[in-house]
Amino acid sequence: MESIGVLMMCPMSSYLENEIQKRFDLLRFWTAPENSGFLETHRNSIRAVVGNASAGADARLIDTLPKLEIVSSFSVGLDKIDLGKCKERGIRVTNTPDVLTEDVADLAIGLMLSVLRRLCECDRYVRSGKWKSGNYKLTTKFTGKSVGIIGLGRIGTAIAKRAEAFSCPIKYYSRTKKSDVTYKYYPTVVELARESDILVVACPLSEETRRIVNREVMDALGPKGVLINIGRGPHVDEPELVAALKEGRLGGAGLDVFENEPYVPEELFGMENVVLLPHVGSGTVETRNAMADLVVSNLVAHFAGEPLVTPVG
Ligand code: NAP
Repeated sequence: MESIGVLMMCPMSSYLENEIQKRFDLLRFWTAPENSGFLETHRNSIRAVVGNASAGADARLIDTLPKLEIVSSFSVGLDKIDLGKCKERGIRVTNTPDVLTEDVADLAIGLMLSVLRRLCECDRYVRSGKWKSGNYKLTTKFTGKSVGIIGLGRIGTAIAKRAEAFSCPIKYYSRTKKSDVTYKYYPTVVELARESDILVVACPLSEETRRIVNREVMDALGPKGVLINIGRGPHVDEPELVAALKEGRLGGAGLDVFENEPYVPEELFGMENVVLLPHVGSGTVETRNAMADLVVSNLVAHFAGEPLVTPVG
């Protein structure tokens, strides 16, 4: 294949770098010194951008690259890509759906168990030697708790299936009522939160869903309620979350994502009813390699003039 410039926005997988390098001219954006004119130098050779959940292709980048044909995201979420701009320019977009669904759903259940049973806190208790001075306090049962899901898509459904195995009644909110499930549908997030012990965010980030979990929702979830966020940080009003936890208006939270990653509100660090993860929903070797294979398959298909494997739109 002729030399095709593929711009990778940030480090995401050394396996992916190797696989791209075997087939294309890989340009690592993060290795270029600031103000080095890197994009200016390569603007006419870059025909593909590979982004992820933290760095994608915004309007400014797209405008800088006149030969850009495809943006292939190493993520299922598309919130870091200016989709309108891509459409306007006829730039194709791909993502990595399905292959990460199970890992993210597994992690959501892990967070529920970790928050309710205080697994991380218990671990710290043993390591610090405190056990020798007395047993750990009692925690809260997970089995049978009602689980409300915002966004019953691929990941939301996989979470629901897992939670069902723990005898949890499942409820959900999304823009449309799903005809293929028997879970109870709620037309607003506040109503869903009021009826849930655990509220899980599993919808895509858009202007509509930004801060979909606000103060009213947290208050509806209540002092015994637990919020799990495996969607995107900006889904939750973070200052309100800190306040609700501090004031005991919310029972706990399990968070894989944050508004300003990798910066996390430090007020959360001392709270034992909170579990904080560094955005690792899809972070297993198996899944990240499968995601990398999908990115490469899409790029290869595109430049061979074949149908994309996982096109967006
Ligand atoms: P999906 O299959 O497209 O499901 C999205 C669901 O959200 C659909 O049920 C959709 O139903 C609902 N939805 C869309 N817009 C909504 C809105 N405005 N209000 C309420 N519900 C809405 O996507 P997925 O594969 O499950 O992925 C979901 C999200 O998870 C991704 O976009 C990504 O941000 C996040 N994610 C996070 C990680 C991580 O590492 N933590 C990993 C992977 C994915 P309706 O169309 O009926 O509204």
